[in-house]
Amino acid sequence: MRHGRADGPACLWWVRRDLRLHDNPALAAAQKLGTVIPVFVLDPALQGRAPRRTAFLFASLRALDGELRARGSSLVVRRGPPPEVLARLLAETGARCVFAHADVSPFARRRESEVAQRVPLQLVGWPTAYSPLEARTSEGRPFTVFGAFRRWARSQPCPHPTLPPPERLRPHEVPSEPLPDAGGLPAGEQAALERARQFAQGPIYDYHTLRDRLDRVGTSRLSADLRFGVLSPRAAMELGCRALEAAPTAQYREGPSRWLDELLWREFFAHILFHHPHSRREPLRPQLREPVWEEDDRLYRAWCEGLTGYPVVDAAMRELVATGWICNRARMVAASFLVKNLLLDWRLGERFFMDHLVDGDPASNGGNWQWVAGVGTDAAPYFRVFNPVLQGRRFDPDGTYVRRWLPELAWVPAPYVHAPWTLPRDDQIAHRCRVGRDYPAPVVDLAESRRRALERYRAAARPKRGGKLEL
Ligand SMILES: Cc1cc2nc3c(=O)[nH]c(=O)nc-3n(C[C@H](O)[C@H](O)[C@H](O)COP(=O)(O)OP(=O)(O)OC[C@H]3O[C@@H](n4cnc5c(N)ncnc54)[C@H](O)[C@@H]3O)c2cc1C
Repeated sequence: MRHGRADGPACLWWVRRDLRLHDNPALAAAQKLGTVIPVFVLDPALQGRAPRRTAFLFASLRALDGELRARGSSLVVRRGPPPEVLARLLAETGARCVFAHADVSPFARRRESEVAQRVPLQLVGWPTAYSPLEARTSEGRPFTVFGAFRRWARSQPCPHPTLPPPERLRPHEVPSEPLPDAGGLPAGEQAALERARQFAQGPIYDYHTLRDRLDRVGTSRLSADLRFGVLSPRAAMELGCRALEAAPTAQYREGPSRWLDELLWREFFAHILFHHPHSRREPLRPQLREPVWEEDDRLYRAWCEGLTGYPVVDAAMRELVATGWICNRARMVAASFLVKNLLLDWRLGERFFMDHLVDGDPASNGGNWQWVAGVGTDAAPYFRVFNPVLQGRRFDPDGTYVRRWLPELAWVPAPYVHAPWTLPRDDQIAHRCRVGRDYPAPVVDLAESRRRALERYRAAARPKRGGKLEL
């Protein structure tokens, strides 16, 4: 099947983390040259992990195929290592070039260079609103401190989607392998754009007060759409900026301003991973020694299964496993508990989150885990150890959230629900929650484990001989 004589040369659009037609620089660049053949390569290296994320990906691919078909084209799906698949497709179709966006993780960048060795690959655009090559300090270096990056970003014009979706695309007749079933999950750019618009017209103004609540929905829930580029990050930022401009008073500005900051964290972590690929597995600041981690499979399993005896941690972990998503506060509390109270290596938690999160993203996940563990950029001070009981009382005051995920606590009265072991024994029987039988006793003592963590962190904080603490 050869393409392109009458229509100009055909090019492949290698679909990566840009599963959309709106504001898509790689697609727009390919389209300028003639017929576009959109290709998604199912890489065997990425299969078998994170079933929920994979299901979301397949659902989003189906939606993308629908958008393409509505415009006269269609998505070509092929299985295999991308360099071979793309080289074969060039030979099969007579296409001249491959367009894709540049990515930031070491794995994705290795793939890019392997592909570039086999086919003429042009990288256009990023999975972020700001290019990691353009965001620079006044000394011309990439940012390593969020506050400075934020100041830089806020001094720039607000990013906005520059490229409307194409009205029509030239047809091609390249056969596709069938897309795996996605189980009918709702997905796709129209739905994501609509949700983003609705959020930016109302809930965004309460974002700063509700974002941390465990028992309420106070956030946009757009993370998986941003992760896969179903929603353009520039489109998201533009909506945030418009909401900010539309705010009638300073008080109303707080929500949109905070939301834009969170989008900037996403940008920042992507830039960090791009410029410091070692931070995918190792602490960003290699000069810092990590505390000596415990090795305790029993405690690790208790954390994974939501059986630590601390309701907020357990509810978060059970929600994560059941749905693939938990809010930021739940992520922070569960992560802090693993690292600081159980003193287990943050990489264990990072990997578990990656295996379960529908929005699991190497840059944001790794960056946040390092932040919690105190080994990354702008790290949380080592002495900040979240107390899960106090966090629960503050962000889930009636216990609605923990009861939703821990049916064992259904009858426990609100004052005890975040610390059920404090309920007198007779009351435990009366409220159908005997600690140690119906619900686990706490696996560690909070005060004691905090003290141990502080000691280990203090011991590790001494810089290595000759080591500088700057990047
Ligand atoms: C330990 C830990 C692991 C995390 N792992 C991931 C991950 O793998 N993928 C991921 O997208 N986010 C991750 N986050 C960040 C954050 O928790 C989620 O982005 C957020 O909860 C998603 O919900 P939302 O879409 O409703 O976000 P909103 O609060 O509505 O925020 C809007 C968008 O901003 C971005 N964002 C928000 N908070 C952060 C943050 N702290 N860091 C980076 N980006 C942020 C996300 O793209 C999010 O969709 C992690 C946080 C922690 C503490």
